[in-house]
Amino acid sequence: MSYFRPEIERMAGYVPGEQPQAGKFIKLNTNENPYPPSPAVARAIAAVAEGGLARYPDPTGTAFRRRAGDVLSVDPDWILCGNGSDDILTIVTRALVGQREWLRLPYPSYILYKTLAHLQGAGAEEVFFETDWSLSDKFAAPLDGLKLAFLPNPNSPSGTMLPPERILELADRLPCPLLVDEAYGDFAETNCLSLVAQNEKIMVSRSLSKSYALAGLRFGFLVAQPQMIEQFRKVKDSYNVDALSIAGATAAIDDTAWLADNTAKVIATRTRLAAAMRALGFATVDSQANFLWNPHPSVPVKPLYEQLKARQILVRYMDYEGWGDGLRISVGTDAQIDACLTLLKSII
Ligand SMILES: *Cc1c(COP(=O)(O)O)cnc(C)c1O
Repeated sequence: MSYFRPEIERMAGYVPGEQPQAGKFIKLNTNENPYPPSPAVARAIAAVAEGGLARYPDPTGTAFRRRAGDVLSVDPDWILCGNGSDDILTIVTRALVGQREWLRLPYPSYILYKTLAHLQGAGAEEVFFETDWSLSDKFAAPLDGLKLAFLPNPNSPSGTMLPPERILELADRLPCPLLVDEAYGDFAETNCLSLVAQNEKIMVSRSLSKSYALAGLRFGFLVAQPQMIEQFRKVKDSYNVDALSIAGATAAIDDTAWLADNTAKVIATRTRLAAAMRALGFATVDSQANFLWNPHPSVPVKPLYEQLKARQILVRYMDYEGWGDGLRISVGTDAQIDACLTLLKSII
């Protein structure tokens, strides 16, 4: 006999990328930013810590929502703060998807979406990307019990994007809300923020983990119409963002010059890395994110991952059933990328 709900027993559980706690790894496996965050972040956190933490934080992170609202030209009432954008995805799934209902996601994409559906006792329906990483109308097809669709844009592991016009089209046809996961949106040429006002089914999530170099802080947010936000607030933990992270995130989003400089550096290195990977024979996909997806048409890539790891360079090896495998390499500093490329050249 088990104490656990059958859906929990059946689940494999989401396994995040390796985070070695010892040794000197060059980490190019979880799409973290290789640069330090805006110095304003540590100052803001220190000021709150010095002021004391005896009181509960603002339940809705008003200071952050005001700053983010100004920076992104969004009404603060259209913003929901989360303990990382994974928290946002959890809140939205719990609020919309019930037992034996369906959540739709593209494949291959972010594996966590499937885990969230299974936690609800719901099904996860995977719609395959086309070979050019576009999505057919199947993604918007009617399905009994379909309650939510997730679409990472830029997508992981490919780094590719659907244009906003296409997303609007899909959302108009879908019978349920569509969450556009823009965890990598700051590295891309376009985004879907302005679509939120056009269709209440469109919601956009953002993360401070990647483009703001704050994966350790845990802060993300959702932009949706206020009648949607109002319902989601009922589902979240009362204090899902703490006083330190609200202060840090507010300082981060306020430093628009830091963001512009950081994304420019990452994009320049991404361009250089893509060219070098192609020169090594990889079928590297054009990316709008801070990582590159690198299948190889003739060389098995799993041994490459293993040999890099043995030499203290961590990249992500992924094998997608029906799609094949590849190395997903996060854009590090120029020195980190050079170290990775030098090693790859010597072993390939
Ligand atoms: C990293 C990532 C997230 C999670 O971001 P956090 O804010 O750190 O929880 C969400 N979606 C995608 C596609 C990601 O790659």
